[in-house]
Amino acid sequence: MKLPLFISTLTLMLSATTVMANDLSSLSTSISSHGNTPLKLYVLDCGRIDARDLSLFNPNIKKGTFKALANPCYLIQHEKGLLLWDTGLSDQLYGLNNGIEVMDGAFNMSVVKTLASQLDEIKVKPTDINYLAFSHLHNDHTGNAKLFMDATWLMQEPEHAMAHSEHAKNYGYSPQDYILDKKVNITKLTGDHDVFGDGSVVIIATPGHSAGHQSLFVDLPKTGAVVLSGDLYHFKENRDNYAMPGWNNKKQTIHSFALVDNILDQTQAALWIHHDLDEFSAQQKSPYFYQ
Ligand SMILES: [Zn+2]
Repeated sequence: MKLPLFISTLTLMLSATTVMANDLSSLSTSISSHGNTPLKLYVLDCGRIDARDLSLFNPNIKKGTFKALANPCYLIQHEKGLLLWDTGLSDQLYGLNNGIEVMDGAFNMSVVKTLASQLDEIKVKPTDINYLAFSHLHNDHTGNAKLFMDATWLMQEPEHAMAHSEHAKNYGYSPQDYILDKKVNITKLTGDHDVFGDGSVVIIATPGHSAGHQSLFVDLPKTGAVVLSGDLYHFKENRDNYAMPGWNNKKQTIHSFALVDNILDQTQAALWIHHDLDEFSAQQKSPYFYQ
């Protein structure tokens, strides 16, 4: 059983290498690390996801394999404002003893600490948030979006289109999280976006997991630069094997893998893998902040 896994992994790695060799012009990026802008990055606990069938995230993994996944949000403080990256599972799940079952029991989702209480702990009101950016609009990232209707929302144009299409519910979106009665200032991006204009916090378009998926480059001066993966990779094993869920757009995903690898090479940034529980457990949580 090992051989097919090896072959498919190798094929994918070769494909990614081919993209890097043949398509460098489209992978070139102005992102660079200077480490000269004061920043604070807070790691917030925005829920837990028990995946009872990990093969959904990587068809090469044995069906029925269990894995507990983290579900963080991140707050970035720049002298020009606050950016919240993802909003996790809804605070309304807090206090439900056994969480909720999703997709016929494929996932159990729970919240042990609300996002609102974690912001309150560091004296940040939801109305203080200037920018809210989503790695993408799947429902494990949008649960608390409605707390931040005073912020400018940053998302890729294709993500906005997909999440507002009539089929959205069939593709992991929960439109009730982000379709609002009140008018919200939404900036639809069509590629990379320098949030504060000085290169320190840059949204990177990394489509593939969803139509307008994005990752975030944060040039922390003391810790060193990091790239917040979003769901470009769900956990370390997928990163190690360049593996992806069966529903990803494969060509786009391979391109995004190579694009981010290029940025990591150029900037020596660390990749923080969004749902990896081991990695999340080892990180210091808010009120601690990385600088
Ligand atoms: Zn996710």
